[in-house]
Amino acid sequence: MTQAEQLEQIKADILAAKICPELAAQATQLVMGDGHPDADIVFIGEAPGKNEDIQGLPFVGAAGKFLNVMLESVGLERKDIYITNIVKYRPPNNRDPEPDEKKAFWPYLLRQLSVIEPKVVVTLGRHSMEYFLPGKRISEVHGEPKRVKFGKTTLVVVPLFHPAAALYNGSLRQTLLDDFSRIPKIIELIEKDKKGK
Ligand code: URA
Repeated sequence: MTQAEQLEQIKADILAAKICPELAAQATQLVMGDGHPDADIVFIGEAPGKNEDIQGLPFVGAAGKFLNVMLESVGLERKDIYITNIVKYRPPNNRDPEPDEKKAFWPYLLRQLSVIEPKVVVTLGRHSMEYFLPGKRISEVHGEPKRVKFGKTTLVVVPLFHPAAALYNGSLRQTLLDDFSRIPKIIELIEKDKKGK
């Protein structure tokens, strides 16, 4: 199976397992992810919002537009990366995802990562950060790469603030742009590190 087919299989498995049936009943559709199935960077947000629910694609609303600006600022386009959310159905009225909803979707997120095998995982906001870096505070660790072990795999995780939080907050917007600008260097260092082994 190609990576794209494996990702499709994960989607089929979520539907077959009827994950979060109450969320599913209120949402238009499952929003799996978008982008390159063999990307070096995977971005992980919180959950689909209204536009994402309608279009079936992650980060296509206002937060997504800002994400596109940040990608462009480091010479990347959406087609170069993969983007998904921890919770894959829109929570009603855009409420925060509940702990049991995040827990239910977590194994499927790990499967997505094991198919894509990115060099870097960028978490957007605290909801996607907390499973990768439990106990950490985003205000203290944002922009700092961390190595995290899951079974046999080691992932490099870069926690960032959520772009939606920065939309109406000028200083947070600048912090996010500054953190973002470090991503290419982080990837370069990981590659050097691998070659040195
Ligand atoms: N916010 C998220 O966390 N994810 C989306 O897909 C859109 C907005």
